[in-house]
Formats: sequence, structure tokens, C-alpha cells
Amino acid sequence: MLIILKREAKQNSIKFLLEKLNEKGVVTKLANLANDKVIHCSKIKPDVDISFVKRYDCVLSIQSFKSPYRLSGREYKPESTIINIDEVKLGNDELTIIAGPCSVESKAQIKEIAHFISENGAKILRGGVVKPRTSPYSFQGLGVKGLEYIKEAGEEYGLKIVCETLEPSEIQFMSDYVDLLQIGTRNMYNYPLLKSVGQTKKPVILKRGVSATVHEWLMSAEYILTEGNPNVILCERGIRTFNTYTRNTLDISVVPYIKTVSHLPVIVDPSHSSGIYNIVPSLAMASVSAGADGVMIEVHSNPEDSFSDSEQTITFEEFSKLSKKLFNIRKVVN
Ligand code: PEP
Ligand code: MN
Repeated sequence: MLIILKREAKQNSIKFLLEKLNEKGVVTKLANLANDKVIHCSKIKPDVDISFVKRYDCVLSIQSFKSPYRLSGREYKPESTIINIDEVKLGNDELTIIAGPCSVESKAQIKEIAHFISENGAKILRGGVVKPRTSPYSFQGLGVKGLEYIKEAGEEYGLKIVCETLEPSEIQFMSDYVDLLQIGTRNMYNYPLLKSVGQTKKPVILKRGVSATVHEWLMSAEYILTEGNPNVILCERGIRTFNTYTRNTLDISVVPYIKTVSHLPVIVDPSHSSGIYNIVPSLAMASVSAGADGVMIEVHSNPEDSFSDSEQTITFEEFSKLSKKLFNIRKVVN
């Protein structure tokens, strides 16, 4: 809710109003909106009738929002959320790079990749162990063995790890291995799965559904948040459009747009967005320019031998060049 103040409002009457609101438990933030001074109010308890503010001389009008984003919206929480993954902070002034292969393939493979990315700017290691493949005949992931390998690799090279989860029944078990859980594009509408990750305290990377509107995506975030898990990271990974020259179309506008509507951090996956390795760097740079809090990139020591998503996976050399550029771009954006 927004309280619009009269232009001639005196400093001490504004102060008095702010104190009264705070006394009633309302969280307030005084701000300038165009030429007006406004008070942004959040966390208004159901038993507080906010219309009392109309009695105050300094108040011109009140404007209430009807946002459906009760917990993910900025109305509820004006300040941006920073997700703490132990010492790694996602959503603060630093760019977070998540990198790794599409799938964990072997202990040696994930360790070699972890080693390289840890020395080249990444803080989080990705790698699927249960793969939601379009074809049931494609590689489906190493399962528990994969979890053991990626956990060991993360520990050895000081990286946090993220794996996609497909089923409520595996979440508890998986949570003992990973630092973050990922909900893939195919499961953005899987409400029982969203509720299950909401019942953990693990940070969740919620990928946008391949044909999801922003509204549907944010409502999926609400499913996780309402269960009590506040650690949601939104990940734009490209949507399906009439264009077929890329695997998906990166909706770059969604990055700054989401930032106006929601306090949750937003990252971009340029690999699945494009499906083409040599345009991944440009999309990653565009994402950081647009204000993304992080990027998630598929990288492999030998992309041509990758068990999955070979055509969108970049080499070590490409990754190392790109990560330096991304940190430089971030400095300009900040
Ligand atoms: C992945 O990150 O490996 C993946 C399957 O992504 P998406 O759900 O975006 O297709
Ligand atoms: Mn992939």
C-alpha cells in the first residue's frame, strides 16, 4: 500500500505518521515517486485498518495494490532478497556464476570441471543426476552415484552444488547432498513438487516453464514461499516462441521487469535459452547487462563428448574468457 503525501506536508507531521504506522507494526519506507513523496507500507496485519491515516493532515490519498504476489511481490517486501548459501550470497552486489555440465557423467568428469570453474569465477557447481529428457531413450542420469560424485567434487573445490529434483519422494534424500535444489522448466507447474521443496529450507532455483507467463511463474514461486521456504531464485531459461533458429527464445526483458514486481533474485540460463554454444557468451553478457543476479552456464572439458546438451555446452577456454567479461560488465551495472 502506498500513502501519497501532500506536497506541502511538513517534516514533523510525516515523522509523526511514520511513528504511528510503525507502532501498529506496519513496515514503512519513505520514498519519492515522480514529484510526490510517498510512504510505502508493507506487512500490514489483517487487524490493522489502515484507513486511519486519512485523518492525518499530511496525507493526500492512499493507494492499495491488488497484487496477487503476496509473498514474492515488492509490495510485501520492498527490499531485494539476498539468498544465503552459507558464505555464498546470491542477490547482493556481486554476480554469482553457476556452471557445470548438463549431467554428471563420472567422478573424474565432474571433478575436472569443478576444479576448472572454481579457479575461473564460479561459486556454484551444477550437474544433473536425474535428467528430465525429452526422449526416454536418452541418458537419464547417474542417480545416487551422481549425487555422491558431485558432492565430493563440490567439497574438494569449495563449490556449492545444485541438482535438479523431479519428485517429492527424493527431495529429503537429495537434500543431504546438495546446497540448492533446482526445479526444471518441465516442473514449474508441478504443484506437489513445488510444495515439497517449499517444506525444506534449501534454496530453490525455480526455472521458468517453457511456455509460462510471468504471472504463472511468480505464482509457482508463491507455492514454494507459502510453505515457508523464503529462498527462491527465479531462473529465466528461454521460452518457446515462433522462432526456431534457437532452441528457445531468451526473454531478456523479463529480467528488469521481474525486478520491478518481485524482490526475489533473478538469474539467467543462456545455455538452454539458446541451445547453441557460440551464442551463449553474448546472451550471458546481455543478461548481466540487464541486471541478472547470476548466470547458469553449461560447461564441459570436452563438449563434443557430453552425454547431454553437447551443442549448447561451452569449453573451458570459452568459459574462462566469458567469466572475466561478466564480472567486468557487472561493475558497470552496479
Ligand atoms: C537443466 O538445467 O539441465 C535443465 C534440464 O534445464 P531446463 O529445465 O531449463 O530445461
Ligand atoms: Mn542441459
